[in-house]
Amino acid sequence: MVRYVYDFTEGGRDQAGLLGGKGSNLAEMTRLGLPVPPGFTLTTDACRVFLATGAEPDGMAREVSEHLAAVESAAGRRLGQPDDPLLLSVRSGARFSMPGMMETILDIGLNDDSVLGLAKVSGNERFAWDSYRRLVQMFGSTVMGVDGALFEQALALLKDLRGAPDDVHLDAADLAQLVETYKNLIHLETGEYFPQSPAEQLRRAILAVFRSWNAERARLYRRREHIPDDLGTAVNVQRMVFGNLGPDSGSGVAFTRDPATGRPGLYGDYLQNAQGEDVVSGIRNTVSLTDLERLDPRSYAQLREHMETLERHYRDLCDIEFTIERGTLWMLQTRVGKRTAEAAFAIAAELTDEGLVTADEALARVSGEELARLMFPRFDSTATGEPLAHGIAASPGAAVGAAVFDSAEAVRRAAAGDKVVLVRQETTPDDLPGMVAAQAVLTSRGGKTSHAAVVARGMGKVCVCGAEELAVDTGARRLTTRDGTVVEEGTVLSVDGSAGAVYLGTVPLADSAVIRYLEDGAVDEASAPVVDAVARALDRADTVSRLEVRANADTPEDAARARRFGARGIGLCRTEHMFLGERRKLVEEMILAVSDAERDRALQALLPLQRQDFAGILEAMDGLPVTIRLLDPPLHEFLPDRTELATRIAATEARGDRPDPHDAELLDAVNRMHEENPMLGLRGVRLGLVVPGLVAMQVRAVAEAVVARTRAGGAPRAEIMVPLVGDVTELRLVREDVARVLAEVSEESGAAVGCPVGTMIELPRAALTAGRIAEEAEFFSFGTNDLTQTTWGFSRDDVEAAFFSAYLDKGVFPASPFETIDRDGVGRLVRIAVEEGRATRPDLKIGVCGEHGGDPESVHFFHTAGLDYVSCSPFRVPVARLEAGRAALEGTDVSDTR
Ligand code: ADP
Ligand code: MG
Ligand code: MG
Repeated sequence: MVRYVYDFTEGGRDQAGLLGGKGSNLAEMTRLGLPVPPGFTLTTDACRVFLATGAEPDGMAREVSEHLAAVESAAGRRLGQPDDPLLLSVRSGARFSMPGMMETILDIGLNDDSVLGLAKVSGNERFAWDSYRRLVQMFGSTVMGVDGALFEQALALLKDLRGAPDDVHLDAADLAQLVETYKNLIHLETGEYFPQSPAEQLRRAILAVFRSWNAERARLYRRREHIPDDLGTAVNVQRMVFGNLGPDSGSGVAFTRDPATGRPGLYGDYLQNAQGEDVVSGIRNTVSLTDLERLDPRSYAQLREHMETLERHYRDLCDIEFTIERGTLWMLQTRVGKRTAEAAFAIAAELTDEGLVTADEALARVSGEELARLMFPRFDSTATGEPLAHGIAASPGAAVGAAVFDSAEAVRRAAAGDKVVLVRQETTPDDLPGMVAAQAVLTSRGGKTSHAAVVARGMGKVCVCGAEELAVDTGARRLTTRDGTVVEEGTVLSVDGSAGAVYLGTVPLADSAVIRYLEDGAVDEASAPVVDAVARALDRADTVSRLEVRANADTPEDAARARRFGARGIGLCRTEHMFLGERRKLVEEMILAVSDAERDRALQALLPLQRQDFAGILEAMDGLPVTIRLLDPPLHEFLPDRTELATRIAATEARGDRPDPHDAELLDAVNRMHEENPMLGLRGVRLGLVVPGLVAMQVRAVAEAVVARTRAGGAPRAEIMVPLVGDVTELRLVREDVARVLAEVSEESGAAVGCPVGTMIELPRAALTAGRIAEEAEFFSFGTNDLTQTTWGFSRDDVEAAFFSAYLDKGVFPASPFETIDRDGVGRLVRIAVEEGRATRPDLKIGVCGEHGGDPESVHFFHTAGLDYVSCSPFRVPVARLEAGRAALEGTDVSDTR
């Protein structure tokens, strides 16, 4: 038979799905023998039945009565017993903690009679009436749906009348009067009376928690965080303990170590003579735990001991809530605490040193996303004051600029050399130019998948969105904060996209300590713990990972940096950048050539330049593989812009002059080469097959650079990669060219030059015919960007800003397929190509060189798909290394000490 209620003595922390996070941890603490007020948990099963049928599941009421009876008999008094009432709290607690759910209701069981009994047994009349008025207020607003502001107004009015600066200055009579006011308010607003029956209070509070699962804010939060809608919430019913019985009572929150830095030692706040949320609500000033040690040394010592027990038991940072009732300590909540990225690394390392977790477990507990956060420049945390507003940390990093309120103004000021922050309610595709021009984007609406968030992340631009405390008035070109501060256009703002905060004025930037360390091993004392922890996690990752990490780099500088960051070679060296700048002239000549001789001349002039580029990169990556991709983009990208040329010619003609014949010739060529869909046009291997001499020149440059490096005593390992192959014949033809040139250079130089030749797999046809293609390819490298474009039929430049935010909102995909590999579609092609490629050639080396290679989730996919390496931009290399290690641990028991 299904049970719907579990006593705290029956559950445990591995039952979070059934008992919710809060309930399972209360049970765990109970099991550990910590002083937890007794109680029981209604399961998420019960919630699901209630939500599906609109009625309590059969038998639930009976089970609640039985468990309540047990709590009552242990306490020796009944719920709401008039002369000595047992009181309860009703607390929601889903598997994941979630804003928007029903707030906890305290002091269930009080009514017009039992309040008098409570006053008597506690000897504290004021306390009794204060508890009652809290109950009526909380019950009235959360269960009966009265606007909470009305209660607050009534309270404020009474304080004014009495000249009381805070609640503490209201006496028992005042509070009794307030209870009457509240009860009248409830009747006026709902036509119902505040229920006097303790049993009814309890039942209605429980059902209200179930219902709150579907509250608007909770639903929104779940959608943003991709939490399934059908989990349901549990409800915890627990005997009340009182922190508001006088100066020897109080409540507090604490962490077993500093959640900001990870440093060991208790951290927390305590408030004397306080209950529930008083401690975090800021109504009175809290004191630190050090003060508690002075105020109540015995409770403090116990608290310390319990926290140590918890940390050793959970083997992680825990946060807790506690209450002291007349010198007796009670534990009310614990969970594995949230922490900053810095603390995550520091704690993992620290716990390893303490022998509580294994090195593998430490690695599993940190993430690439956290590491990435540590690699951005950050605001100097000692220099930040109170933020102007909080929002959603949509795209990490720190940026400073003048506030502007529309795209055009952003573009105008940026063109004048100013740094700007684009502030909008929400962005649309029309804001794109402004977003490009801005240092950061700030919006007052929208979540992690809003247009602003998606586009900013794609651009690597700092973004805070959904800063709802800000009223953005685009027309008046200003924003107003909740406390009335007005920020006019031009005012400097500092935007922290990692923390989701906005500051007024310029906050100074500090370099990332992790980057400094990776760059040259520099460590300052303050950041030594986190830097050391990162280094250890990376070390461990390198030890356990199977995937190698290479970098995408086109210059010796980038290659050298990638190597410092731990890259084991270059997975993608693009050659098109080597055709830009002053060399563009030569490319033009090559394109415009009418005779073979003319073309050869241009190619001959390019040859030494390319050779020099390759030599530099091979030197920086000496001893490690360097995968050089033959020219990929359409040639017209190297010619002047069509409209610009036409306008120039027209203007010259309008003046009555004869246009420059070179311009006319160029325009001809540009027109000839114009393509409607360049992404699907004459590019990649197709260029190599139709532009005579191009492949030969590039391969010769590679081969000669290899010879030169070898002669200089180096160990060059160049690999030649052919882009955009769709059929094996394309590759065979190019390969013949490559082989011929390599043979020529070998003969000329007297040194045998061998370069593996492989291909990119970036068209569905290539993936589907990978078995054939592998006959000619010594390696595969998935170009997942083009493969995503061609699989989905998306042109990335066109679709991302146009409708991706709508697609994300509608749930077509959970994340942009350009950021995180689409496992079902693109991923399936990858798997097919891996399997069929290796069937033909078992030692086929396979990697990926799209940006996905640096995306944590995608790295895990590539690991399971059996790839040999991922390649990503140099700054993502450490992230990919970490995730390659974590991927290798997935599915293994990381707590195994072996
Ligand atoms: P949240 O999910 O917001 O943390 P909680 O269920 O922890 O909500 O409760 C809100 C406040 O009420 C907390 O400060 C908690 O310590 C306090 N509280 C909950 N149950 C009890 C109880 N049985 N006795 C005393 N205080 C309680
Ligand atoms: Mg709590
Ligand atoms: Mg490509």
